[in-house]
Amino acid sequence: MEKKYDYLIVGSGLFGSTIANRLKREGKKVLVIEKRNHIGGNVYTENVEGINVHKYGAHIFHTDYKDVWDYVNSFVEFNRYTNSPIARIGNEVYNMPFNMNTFSKIWNDVFTPEDALRHINEEKKEIDHEPTNLEEQAISLVGRSIYEKLIKGYTEKQWNRPCTELPAFIIKRLPVRLTYDNNYFNDRYQGIPMGGYTKLVEKMLEGIEVKLNTDFFDNVEEYKNMATTIVYTGPLDEYFNYSLGKLEYRSLKFDTKILDEQNYQGNAVVNYTGHEVDYTRVIEHKHFEFDSTSPKTVVTFEYPSDYVEGMEKYYTVNDDKNNALADQYRDLASKEENVIFGGRLAEYKYYDMDDVIKAALDKVNSL
Ligand code: FAD
Ligand code: UDP
Repeated sequence: MEKKYDYLIVGSGLFGSTIANRLKREGKKVLVIEKRNHIGGNVYTENVEGINVHKYGAHIFHTDYKDVWDYVNSFVEFNRYTNSPIARIGNEVYNMPFNMNTFSKIWNDVFTPEDALRHINEEKKEIDHEPTNLEEQAISLVGRSIYEKLIKGYTEKQWNRPCTELPAFIIKRLPVRLTYDNNYFNDRYQGIPMGGYTKLVEKMLEGIEVKLNTDFFDNVEEYKNMATTIVYTGPLDEYFNYSLGKLEYRSLKFDTKILDEQNYQGNAVVNYTGHEVDYTRVIEHKHFEFDSTSPKTVVTFEYPSDYVEGMEKYYTVNDDKNNALADQYRDLASKEENVIFGGRLAEYKYYDMDDVIKAALDKVNSL
């Protein structure tokens, strides 16, 4: 029997929205269902006091993929935002990522790259083997002084585990530069969509039927009968009713305040790298944009949290145990007929926004 839709897409995050947009352009009949009361998944922004507030944590778009950059720019214009976080510990502030500005403040005799290397090389001698955990990895990258001030506290708050028990790869994505360049990312393209991410996703979903407040698991059989193919972007283990066990996630708590002042911290992102406060960072949303005239400001204190039922699953925990379980679920997923699993939760992968869009574009090309 002919089905009403060619594709039923579960989730309106960037994976679901990209695939919906491309399939619609190919002339397919598409329905998107979304269990939240809004589109966009975790990139959703909400206008508060004329400021686009990143509801589910700060999102900075950065990519090396020209096709992905051209694709997102075909919907909205991006501004020239460059992420340059500040790290605060006690009464000291440092530039991130680790660069000559950081080194010259940590060691007061550092002026040139050679001076910085002298200190780093001296300090990293304590690790004389291939790093086996995050602490060793960090020390062998930048030395113990920086590890203790800028990495240890932040990382332990973020993951709620000692750095000696965390995998080294977590820290590998942070650049270490011997130039006075505070850009957090190495990618060629970077910016924030003008008007917010919600506007970007609205444009992607233009002309596509979207049902909000609709959970796939409330009516699985009905939804499966509606469409020839399902695109599933929710949690991988949930799709299989946790039959092999539960995958682990980390969550976050956001404490957002509207303040009656124009400029609270002078930067969009300030990391708190010590244990003296429980939050890891404070986001001041108006600094992601350059045209805010609001006399107020909106700030969000971000507290890492263990995941408990009912919270959002923000980060996958890609240690050996969880990766092995995810592999078993992937095996099951590969046997599901007419279901595409895609995105951060369904692939159980640490994915940046551009990776998610790239994966969705590639998927449509392969269909
Ligand atoms: P999601 O955005 O999670 O979308 C999945 C959607 O599916 C959700 O809307 C969900 O409600 C819906 N859904 C799930 N289950 C069901 C169901 N049963 N029925 C119906 N709907 C369902 N990336 C960057 O590139 N730069 C950054 O600066 C950056 N910062 C980040 C900060 C934080 C705090 C976090 C958590 C992530 C960050 N990311 C960043 C990563 C980025 O958020 C993801 O790459 C991207 O949003 C993933 O898109 P997705 O579509 O896979 O998933
Ligand atoms: N990190 C740190 N100090 C900082 C910022 C980051 O030690 O001020 C470490 C921390 O271990 C974190 C990792 O670098 O988990 C990756 O940071 P990134 O900003 O890429 O994390 P995400 O965007 O995933 O929150």
